[in-house]
Amino acid sequence: MPDATPDILREPGATIHKFGGTSIAGPDRLRAAAKLIAAEARIPYTVVVSSAMSQVTNRLLKIFHTAGLGDVQRVLDAVQALADDHRAAAAGIDADDATLAQIEELLTGLSRTAAAATALRDRSPRTHDIIVSFGERLAVRLLASAIRSEGLDARALDASDFLDTTDRHTEADPVTFLGDRSVAAVVQAVLKANAIPVITGFIGRGPGGEITTLGRGGSDFTATLVAAALRATDVNIWTDVPGVLSADPRIAPNAQPIPHLHYREAAEMSFYGAKVLHARTMIPVLQQAILVRVRSTLQPDAPGTRINNTPPAATSRSGVRAATAIPGQTLVSIEGSGMAGTPGLSGKAFDALAGARISATMISQASSEASVCIAVPSDLAAKAEAALKRVFSAELSKRIIEDIVIEPGISLVAAVGMGMSRAPGVAASITAALAARDINIRAIAQGSTELNVTLAVRSDRAEDAVRAIHDDLIDERHGPPCDVILIGPGSVGRAVAARLAKLAPASDRRTPRIVGVVDRSGGILDPAGLGDRLDVILAHKAAGHPLRDLKGSIAGSPSDLLRALAANTPACPILVDCSDNAAHGSLFTEALRVGFDIATANKGPLADTDDVWQELQITRDRRARIIRGESTIGAGLPVWSTITELTVGGDEIRRIDALMSGTIGFVLDRVENGAKLSDAVAEAVELGYTEPDPTIDLSGVDVGRKGLILGRLTGLSPNAADASADPVIGALPAGAKADAVIDALRARDAGFADRVAKARDAGCVLRYVLRIVRGLSRAAIAELPTDAPLAQVKGATAAVSITSRVYAETPLVVTGYGAGAEPTASGVVNDILRIAHARALP
Ligand code: ASP
Ligand code: MG
Repeated sequence: MPDATPDILREPGATIHKFGGTSIAGPDRLRAAAKLIAAEARIPYTVVVSSAMSQVTNRLLKIFHTAGLGDVQRVLDAVQALADDHRAAAAGIDADDATLAQIEELLTGLSRTAAAATALRDRSPRTHDIIVSFGERLAVRLLASAIRSEGLDARALDASDFLDTTDRHTEADPVTFLGDRSVAAVVQAVLKANAIPVITGFIGRGPGGEITTLGRGGSDFTATLVAAALRATDVNIWTDVPGVLSADPRIAPNAQPIPHLHYREAAEMSFYGAKVLHARTMIPVLQQAILVRVRSTLQPDAPGTRINNTPPAATSRSGVRAATAIPGQTLVSIEGSGMAGTPGLSGKAFDALAGARISATMISQASSEASVCIAVPSDLAAKAEAALKRVFSAELSKRIIEDIVIEPGISLVAAVGMGMSRAPGVAASITAALAARDINIRAIAQGSTELNVTLAVRSDRAEDAVRAIHDDLIDERHGPPCDVILIGPGSVGRAVAARLAKLAPASDRRTPRIVGVVDRSGGILDPAGLGDRLDVILAHKAAGHPLRDLKGSIAGSPSDLLRALAANTPACPILVDCSDNAAHGSLFTEALRVGFDIATANKGPLADTDDVWQELQITRDRRARIIRGESTIGAGLPVWSTITELTVGGDEIRRIDALMSGTIGFVLDRVENGAKLSDAVAEAVELGYTEPDPTIDLSGVDVGRKGLILGRLTGLSPNAADASADPVIGALPAGAKADAVIDALRARDAGFADRVAKARDAGCVLRYVLRIVRGLSRAAIAELPTDAPLAQVKGATAAVSITSRVYAETPLVVTGYGAGAEPTASGVVNDILRIAHARALP
């Protein structure tokens, strides 16, 4: 129990404000930092720790390395540039004379040290530490002077005078983490004089009094060490981001500040590559439960991230708080079937690495015990390999170990969060998130603390993996997405987009989000989701303009855009085709190949030649993808779903009788009620029941395609040659305008009226019936007795009657309104949701 803390500091405790390089980069930022300190100051409880100005440490390191090469001129130039920058900063803040003198003295010291190091080509870690220490020593003097300009007393302090460390230069450890007496004494003396101590971060004093450094980013660590020494109440780490983020925002643009973290989470995150905090920052504050806050100098009023020992609230379902990545790793695998049951091999491996002073960044043992996989920083890989080959020489020659395999180019991706231990199956969800993007996992390890799951992936996929974990397990605003590329933003496509935008996230499936809209001319892509921009895009389309004309669009074919999107590793992507391009079969095959599922309202590809259809089926099955085309049969009617469910449930479809054309149904109904055929068609055109070219409906082509799709879906009649459809009323001029068709029909009004009358006399009605039995799909006008089930179906209503092994006596009938943009859109959305459900996280 450290004692001797003067009473003045007991109640309330001190507050440490630590400033990072960007927060003091140049005179303006220095002044802003000083103002911020003045605003927050509680004299005599305020202590400041500062790092070097932005980039200065990097530049000093460069000077050190150039000196080691003996390159005098470059060393001189670099020192001169640093001197200029610090003098400019000093002038810019109107530094007082004493400060100016101290700055000059330090700059002289730097140039002498650098010159001596160059002369001697001195590459010692000791000289390294002396040279880089100048950054912090210069910075604190500038910052103290800026604070004094705010009317407060401030004194620059060099921690190299009182913060005791080991002699491990470049990565020194403090002698005590928990309350350095000498630090307390020096700092308290300044506080008692009602001045603000402004202490150098990053540097310390080695056993012989020489300058040491605590490792890159070490000023955070200095701040918490000072806090522990003073038994402070809180430490503010001021930076230029609004707290600790759930991922690197350059990788995951939707990364959010995390309001609260437990110390252990913060420590784990920095160890696994999150750049915000030095890895050892939390050690000094743990024991005294000192609150650490990460705050932004740009938004000082924002809450930032609070870090203490309160367990995290059950925030995300998965318990994962952050996703991070460490690049530059190499996997070393010790492999051999003889390893199973040979005890002590892994222990021996770790001893060998420890002996070589290599600490593994990840260890994973396959449950078969036939291999142990260790990740090490790539620059140590050769050393690790040599060490392992040495200790295992006997096992290698006896073939207990077959090989030690080295795989460079690896990154470790970590999902971090204390709540993970409570949430079951997190590792499975993480693997699924990566699998959904085709990211291969080379090795996986669940930390023994259950605070993290670490995955080794190839470095070129590391960012994708971070995004995958972030999108699927952390970002609660959206839930895990599945990415939709919408081809054909016509009336159906726009209705689909409108419905997707209104969907609430659900826990049993992914939430569809539109990441691309594409027409014949090109399209717009945004891998993070088009969000609000959709309105503009769809309005542009609704006004009849090609997408290529829109700002930010990519010109190209749908397949070009598909490829561009695929290159961005979308999550569980779905191609939604609402176009009427009959030639999209090859686009579909390509989409399946690059990992897309398909929801199509476009009948063309499903009713294409047998070759195209077979290729689609084979690719779908080989890639384990899904194709759904509910709306290609009966718009929003659940025909596709019913048939798949029956088949999956083991039933066997034997026959289908269906009324599949709303247009023909409507026309027949009008004629039955006394209207002329031509007038009935004109009415159907007017009401928008027909395709723009009504011959497509009247010729039976449309029903014929549905018959082929149903034949293929049920497996009853998959071949194009076995599907046919008769025209309703003789041949019509193909491709004609609606008016011309109606005119041509006038000559047939009387004949058709006759036909209807004859049927009525025989107790029948006319229906355009699609019949599918094994090996045949045929649509034609049929006379049905008035009591037949399909005779009861009136007007534009569609009906599909399914006879199966289970429904043998009374067929299963799906009936309802079977046309129109809105019902078609529901069919498409239904397909999308079923796919999203099938692709839900385990
Ligand atoms: N200036 C040092 C560095 O750049 C220490 C720090 O920034 O915390 O690593
Ligand atoms: Mg820093």
